[in-house]
Amino acid sequence: MKKLTIFRCIFYPIVLITILSGYQDSRFINKYSDVHPELKYYVDKFVKFSDGVLDAEDLDGLTMGFADLPKDNKKRTLGRCFLLLNEVEISRNFWNTASEGQRMYLVFHELGHCTCFIMHKNEELEDGCPSHLMHEEFPEERCIFNHWDRYVSELYKDC
Ligand SMILES: [Zn+2]
Repeated sequence: MKKLTIFRCIFYPIVLITILSGYQDSRFINKYSDVHPELKYYVDKFVKFSDGVLDAEDLDGLTMGFADLPKDNKKRTLGRCFLLLNEVEISRNFWNTASEGQRMYLVFHELGHCTCFIMHKNEELEDGCPSHLMHEEFPEERCIFNHWDRYVSELYKDC
């Protein structure tokens, strides 16, 4: 997998309910020094599920941690990737109440940005679920349950 570090300056939020268009963040220095131990398991799964598309080296330099992410009544940021820094930040509040499937989905989505350089893909399936794991709205749990295999295979095609 080629590293397109020049594109790391783009910032992608993943949001709940509505799009956070125009949201900007002015971070230029990494906040974390490595991958938080609680997140390491899911990062390892991201490599493992890729079935050889990725190896551990592709995750070199990745930093990842928890934070209180911005929210208002209508939208909530669950995670974000700082491409320039190869850093992912995950909402601590969301993580604490999320299921295993939701955690996996969120980490894979953010690494889809930070490791695979994939942008959002906002098409939907007939049942209302996102057609791709890189949809910018976080799906209902049934979508993750019903379409996980599809999400994973489509994700790595672009990685
Ligand atoms: Zn996103």
